Amino acid sequence: MSSIVNEAHPWLENLVAYDPGKPIEETARELGLDPNEIIKIASNENPLGPSPKAVEAMKEAAEWVHIYPDGGGYKLRTAIAETFGLGRENVVISNGSNEIIELVGHGFLNPGDNVIAAEHAFVVYKLMATLFGAETIEVPDPGFAHDLDAMAAAITPRTRKIFIANPNNPTGTLVGQEAIDRFMDKVPDHVMVIFDEAYHEFLHDAPDTLKYVREGRNVVIMRTFSKIQGLAGLRIGYGITTPEIAQVLHKCRQPFNTNSIAQAGAIAGLADTEHQERTRNLNDEGLAFYQNAFDEMGLEYVPSFANFVLVKVGNGDAVFDAMLKRGIIIRSMRSYKLPEWVRVSVGTMPQNERCISTLKEVLA
Ligand SMILES: *Cc1c(COP(=O)(O)O)cnc(C)c1O
Repeated sequence: MSSIVNEAHPWLENLVAYDPGKPIEETARELGLDPNEIIKIASNENPLGPSPKAVEAMKEAAEWVHIYPDGGGYKLRTAIAETFGLGRENVVISNGSNEIIELVGHGFLNPGDNVIAAEHAFVVYKLMATLFGAETIEVPDPGFAHDLDAMAAAITPRTRKIFIANPNNPTGTLVGQEAIDRFMDKVPDHVMVIFDEAYHEFLHDAPDTLKYVREGRNVVIMRTFSKIQGLAGLRIGYGITTPEIAQVLHKCRQPFNTNSIAQAGAIAGLADTEHQERTRNLNDEGLAFYQNAFDEMGLEYVPSFANFVLVKVGNGDAVFDAMLKRGIIIRSMRSYKLPEWVRVSVGTMPQNERCISTLKEVLA
């Protein structure tokens, strides 16, 4: 018996679909709880919600959804370009910044190529490489930090791309300017470097990678509205790159890959620096609170530069289940080959406090 399924790309056989954080509604249903009693600190979302200005802009945009969006994203790309002192031709907007990972695959990956990523990097790089029939070379990351020297040394003639998540998810680690500059000196012209900077806005002393775009190097910088902007449900992000690479990525995307409500929300959110500032301050407070609490509890954790902390709890799945039963959704790290660890996102201070007191109860 032949089945159409047998004709799917052979490299898809070992591909496991991305496992997202557990939704609040589903958890509430399963536990018979009120969704309002449940805390989701599993997907590094903004605990303050979206910028009120973004919500206002989205309501207005909702009146116009009978009209197709601006496929070229003129206004949003202009706003992003102005923010960074670049041109509109340097910017590609996307359905979540994750779509950029797919677009660079469409544009530049062939079966048999390879991409390089850190062993505990964000999993989507490997998923997307597999989707295009490419291999992923996973480079060890001692202390959970990207080892850029080792990543440069891993380059082969079939290497097309190197992904650097900075800060990385799920480890929260950061590579600094010096390491990045030394790395960029070694990267040959046949390799594209993708800096995934989803948590960039949480940093106080961020390395400069935009200079490599200005220098015309083969780099793509990924940024998102999902994290500090609190617009994860809208699915909107962007890539900053050279005009030449941007042109290739535009060919690879759907004509209307970002919707009009998302574009409107993103423009207003980008301008609302006050909301971003409040979120960053809350995050600083929450990170310090978590890390102090883990110190007191004698738990090993990875000092974080992002809006979450990776912490070693013993049996990550069991702790995830026990927290879930008590209405707190965190993330187990088995799919990252870290079965003893969980990742907790920074919430509001009351949420962080409930997370820690519940974790103490669970571990007792
Ligand atoms: C959350 C996250 C993103 C953002 O994804 P979107 O598609 O923009 O929501 C990208 N990269 C990393 C490492 C992340 O953690």
